[in-house]
Amino acid sequence: MKALVYRGPKNVRVENVPDARIEQETDCLVKITSTNICGSDLHMYEGRTSVEEGKVLGHENLGAVVEAGSAVRRVKTGDVVCLPFNIACGYCKNCERGYTGFCLTMNPGSAGAAYGYAEMGPYQGGQAEFLRVPYADFNCLVLPEGAEDQEDDYVMLADIWPTGYHATELACLQPGESVVIYGAGPVGLFAAYSAILKGASGVYVVDRLKDRLRLVEEIGATPIDDSKGSPVEQLKELTGGAGADKGCECVGYQAHDVSGDEHSNMTLNNLVESVKPTGRIGIVGVFPSEDPKSKDKLEKQGKIAFDIGKFFEKGLSMGSGQCNVKAYNRHLCDLIAAGKAKPSFLVSHELALDEAPEAYKHFDERDAGWTKVVLKPDARKAAGVRERSGKSKVSPIRKHEHAKSAGTRG
Ligand code: NAD
Ligand code: ZN
Repeated sequence: MKALVYRGPKNVRVENVPDARIEQETDCLVKITSTNICGSDLHMYEGRTSVEEGKVLGHENLGAVVEAGSAVRRVKTGDVVCLPFNIACGYCKNCERGYTGFCLTMNPGSAGAAYGYAEMGPYQGGQAEFLRVPYADFNCLVLPEGAEDQEDDYVMLADIWPTGYHATELACLQPGESVVIYGAGPVGLFAAYSAILKGASGVYVVDRLKDRLRLVEEIGATPIDDSKGSPVEQLKELTGGAGADKGCECVGYQAHDVSGDEHSNMTLNNLVESVKPTGRIGIVGVFPSEDPKSKDKLEKQGKIAFDIGKFFEKGLSMGSGQCNVKAYNRHLCDLIAAGKAKPSFLVSHELALDEAPEAYKHFDERDAGWTKVVLKPDARKAAGVRERSGKSKVSPIRKHEHAKSAGTRG
């Protein structure tokens, strides 16, 4: 089968690899029809993880079940399913309590497994024609009838929307409260979208990429452009000096200043300044336990210089970690089915699998207009650049068509 394979920093290729197949009687085999490129994939793409060469990437997957193992009871051939990026057993102590992002059995020696990701177990990813899904009955979200016509909405349930939602849950955001979100990438945009759905009184999103800030505005949140000055001061100005009730970190360890220099403590310390006393911060941006390629001495060891004094003085608290997708995906799915949410607003490109290497390059450069790429391994479904209205138009990617916006990483 064809698949997108990691071959070293900034080098991914579409290659022929051994077919995905049923390995355990509890597995199913899914023919992938939509699979996203994620900001998390870029940590690997940029050579900032220990991912091994030859790994098939892709953890945001949707497709049709083409074969079910002999012990699979619930999921049937022909079902259209969306797969949480977490691979979970369903019976360990953490899965029992709903912490499927911290499954104790699927990646022994560690807590949490995923498709096609560094340090998350031996599983291949779904940026491929087929995907093996372990414990199919537990992991598959079977989608409602007609889901094939709305794949760009439903595929957001694999990771990126639940993760944005998780940021607001970790921050314990309640209706009527205000929230500041650092990062207007897909995760930050979905944190903002979720905060609005939850009835937040004010939703402020900090970034410097103009196209992303425009989307912030389009979904009804307030953009803060940190290339125009301190985001903390801008937030204070917008909130009568008070700051926000809650905060979300949606950038991670590769946070950088507007000139592109990385400071992995930047967003967290800005959040300490931005959130009101006794407020809470939810961290979903990734902070790895070590980052040997960082230029920063502390960050190399997975540490940061954190403003603990101010954090303590203000009585703040925080929650962090991988999203437990299964905790939210069914309810968020029902919002799509009921016509109350349309998460495909984020999708900028629907491309064939063969176009993935080029798409990684654009997405990694944060080129203007490249907010979210959905790969369609069945190339007949690829529509090229997508119009924001949700209607797609056929148009291949043309090089240099997208002007680079100011402030992208150097
Ligand atoms: P992305 O890289 O597309 O977006 C990050 C955004 O942050 C960019 O728009 C960038 O301009 C902005 N940014 C950089 N430095 C900033 C700063 N100092 N202040 C404000 N904004 C800044 O990535 P994404 O897909 O949105 O993912 C964001 C993070 O979430 C990544 O670390 C990703 O690995 C992580 N993630 C976590 C989970 C989870 O389960 N916890 C799941 C998916 C993704
Ligand atoms: Zn992802």
